This record gives sequence, structure tokens and C-alpha cells, in this order.
Amino acid sequence: MAGISDQDRWEEEKPGRQEDLCLQCGLCCKVFGDRIYPTHENLYAWISNGRREILRHFSACRADGKWIQCTDLSPDEIGGISAIEMRDPETGEYPAVCPFLRRTGKTRYICSIHSEKPDMCRSYMPWIWGETYFSRCRALEKMEQRSFFPGHR
Ligand code: SF4
Ligand code: SF4
Repeated sequence: MAGISDQDRWEEEKPGRQEDLCLQCGLCCKVFGDRIYPTHENLYAWISNGRREILRHFSACRADGKWIQCTDLSPDEIGGISAIEMRDPETGEYPAVCPFLRRTGKTRYICSIHSEKPDMCRSYMPWIWGETYFSRCRALEKMEQRSFFPGHR
């Protein structure tokens, strides 16, 4: 897009947490596999914005216990949903890797739905000790090297 450099675009589309720290290796997205759970608010937003290409990768358990693809979900059903799962839209199987992860270079990946990615991806901080800590995060490894060797960059 005119006026936006590749670097800006990549900054915008980092796969994990969109902080400067992320090195876009894509590993966290691969490791999460199918365990990506959108919130009810994410579903509302995707329906409102007509993002069927996102919705088709998720299935929801409605209040009556029936599972349906999220493209068939109406906004007034969302409040009654008890579970949301990532499923392959063709086979119904759990995908091995998030379908929104795109490889753009030898070791570089972007999130193809960055502006509308699930809240859990948006708030993901693998370098902070706690629930989302991910010891194999490349950015974390780099930070640890720097603190172990002061002055090393
Ligand atoms: S939605 Fe985007 S950030 Fe979240 S796991 Fe998939 S590729 Fe990664
Ligand atoms: S593992 Fe770390 S460096 Fe790699 S994409 Fe995820 S947050 Fe970024």
C-alpha cells in the first residue's frame, strides 16, 4: 500500500505480541496449534465486519448443545455459546497450525489477520513470567543473552 513501507507493514503484522521485541519467528503461533480461543467480543466483531474467512475456521457450541460453524452464527446466539474451537472448515478436524500464520521469508512469519486477531494473541507476552511465558520465544532468548552479557547487542 502506498506510503507504507515493508518494515511498517511487518511491524503491523507480527504473529505473536505486536511489540518491538517480537522477532517474527512464528514459533509461538505454531506451538499454540489449534488452541486459539476467540472471545465472544471477537466473534461479534468478525460478524459485524463480515470476516467470514476468519469465522469459517471456528466452530461454536450453542446453548442447545449443537456445534455449528461460526459463519452460521447469528449475533443474538453469541451470548449463549459455551465453547468455541478452531476447526478445519473442510474436514472439521483440529488444525496442526493456526491457519492465519503466513510465511514471508526464510524465518519470518506474519499474522494474516493482525488487525482482527483474537484477544489472546493480542495480549500475548511470552517474555513476562506467568501464564503466557514461553521459554522458546526467540525474543526472550535474545533478551536473556543481552542481560547475561551486558553491552552485547
Ligand atoms: S491468529 Fe495470528 S497471532 Fe494468533 S496464533 Fe494465529 S497467526 Fe498467530
Ligand atoms: S516466539 Fe517470540 S519472537 Fe517468535 S513470533 Fe512468538 S513472540 Fe515473536
